[in-house]
Amino acid sequence: MTKLLRCRDVGFDCDAEVRGETDEAILAQVAVHARDVHGVVEVPDAVVQRAIENIREEDATE
Ligand SMILES: [Zn+2]
Repeated sequence: MTKLLRCRDVGFDCDAEVRGETDEAILAQVAVHARDVHGVVEVPDAVVQRAIENIREEDATE
């Protein structure tokens, strides 16, 4: 099952979605996305925590 995280759920006004097989894979992509798109060089722990809490299983029917 693919996991999904919406950038918006982390607190950015952004429609990007990140998918991965594991939380770690998603967090790695979020870090790259935050840096490249939002100019966040180092993601604060609070944002990482919020990201972890908002990772969900992608609905297969979606
Ligand atoms: Zn974003």
